[in-house]
Amino acid sequence: MDHYAVIGNPVAHSRSPVIHRLFAVATGQEMTYQALLAPRDGFAQTLRAFVGRGGRGANVTLPFKEEAAAIVDRLDPDAGLAGAVNTVVVAADGTLAGFNTDGIGLIADLRNGLGVQLAGARILMLGAGGAARGAIGPLLGAGCALLALCNRTPVRAAAVAAVFADRRVTVIDGSDVRDPFDLIINATSASLTGATVALPPRAIGAESTFYDMVYGDAARASLETALSLGARVVSDGLGMLVEQAAAAFALWRGVRPDTKAVIAELRAQIEESAL
Ligand code: NAP
Repeated sequence: MDHYAVIGNPVAHSRSPVIHRLFAVATGQEMTYQALLAPRDGFAQTLRAFVGRGGRGANVTLPFKEEAAAIVDRLDPDAGLAGAVNTVVVAADGTLAGFNTDGIGLIADLRNGLGVQLAGARILMLGAGGAARGAIGPLLGAGCALLALCNRTPVRAAAVAAVFADRRVTVIDGSDVRDPFDLIINATSASLTGATVALPPRAIGAESTFYDMVYGDAARASLETALSLGARVVSDGLGMLVEQAAAAFALWRGVRPDTKAVIAELRAQIEESAL
């Protein structure tokens, strides 16, 4: 039996164990998957102890994604640009390879879940943290025409833009937005602290899609605001969550699970718990 885990702090809220157990059953894989709470200063020890007990791979969540990128033995190029690792693969010799599947998950949900056309799209990214950085490489790879970064702390957005050094990546202030974007992505953690991210009103038009990386109740306010501003399509990040997990599962097991049924199951669980 192969063992996998998600390591974070906090981690009890993580839906990854449910998702990976559903994937394992659907694909007939013999494996376990557990949530591991690491002390804030003890991520590396927790990961090494898990590998020492036979762990074959791990997901990494807040606040350890940057630290994971620093301690793995090999870094996938996209994870290197993102500066963050959310998936660790343990090789047969015990060495660690780091990947970032968040951006892959976002693209999969935008394309397959929502039918968004990314080639030639003008995109506004709100936020410049790890999730935004993880998404930039895959969005550029998908052929977007423009990727404007808008962050509460502008200097952080400028630093991220400098890492990518691509003429399509620019930094803007929300008050400078004049025309609607095809796609607006909220990659801030504002709603997790009870705050609301400011959506530049002119960024949203009748053809715009608004995507919030958070899911469930935490995304409700921003999705309602985007709809009231005239967005054509709005979505929370549940599909991204399941798709990034599917990409990690494929790295570990060599099998890509079907995501539709798992997204539907999680959506039902979330709606039931909100009642
Ligand atoms: P992070 O590295 O801590 O970055 C947080 C970002 O949010 C920063 O740009 C920060 O701006 C901004 N921010 C925080 N509070 C804000 C506020 N009140 N108003 C405006 N901006 C604010 O976090 P992360 O790892 O990038 O994660 C961002 C979000 O994506 C989280 O909510 C996370 O749950 C979600 N996420 C979802 C998935 C998924 O699969 N669905 C995957 C990854 C992440 P400053 O630079 O000014 O501090």
